[in-house]
Amino acid sequence: MSRYKTILLFGAPGAGKGTQGKILGNIPGFYHLSCGEVFRSLDMGTKLGRVFLEFSSKGLLVPDDATIQMWHQNMHARTVLAIYKPNVDLLVLDGIPRNVNQAKLLAKHLDVLKVIHLMCPDKEKMMERLRRRAIKENRADDAKEDVIRRRWGVYEDETFPVLECYPKHLIAEVDAMGSPAEVLGKILGIVVPVQNEHYLSPANADSATDSRNVACKTAVRASSNGVKHTAKKASRK
Ligand code: ADP
Repeated sequence: MSRYKTILLFGAPGAGKGTQGKILGNIPGFYHLSCGEVFRSLDMGTKLGRVFLEFSSKGLLVPDDATIQMWHQNMHARTVLAIYKPNVDLLVLDGIPRNVNQAKLLAKHLDVLKVIHLMCPDKEKMMERLRRRAIKENRADDAKEDVIRRRWGVYEDETFPVLECYPKHLIAEVDAMGSPAEVLGKILGIVVPVQNEHYLSPANADSATDSRNVACKTAVRASSNGVKHTAKKASRK
């Protein structure tokens, strides 16, 4: 099984992973998946839905096995339905892996090409973002002060060490304190070269007017890297 080529959006609660992920996911050639959003979309009457409510309402992580199984099933379904096309789209994940164990469990599924670390030195400012989001999005997990603080504690103790799981050269630090557009600009500066290196430009893939482009598209669908790079070079001739 080939692994999903992936960009990880990493950072503290309130750093803007969701905001940036959503914008990126609207750009052709990127596919965004937020683990928290998948959890929130569950039927809360199901067993997993109840487990999610139980843990998230306290600011805690859902147990790893349940999380990874749900994530994997969800990804598989999206791939089968061709909502996400691994040979065309670079996967942008946010909210997973959330601890070192999850990073280990995901290693067989993910080919991590970059980790975007959204940095926010001002903790109080981030807390303020969470409080505002709680009101705007009606999120129970961010409504109470003690839950917000616990989520921060979980981030510092369990999530932050995830950075150690990836080689330093894959980690890109981005200042998360600017406007969404400013932060996006910096992220694009990092992820566009990664996309260009591993995928054909989406613009080329869509304009299959000459035979070389058709050949490129076919090559993109064949999942082998070598085939893709050969086709990419041919299309430039
Ligand atoms: P935020 O982006 O604000 O940090 P999320 O929306 O990603 O929060 O997650 C909300 C809640 O969903 C978490 O507090 C946790 O209970 C649960 N959750 C999301 N992703 C994971 C994960 N990878 N592992 C365990 N629990 C998770």
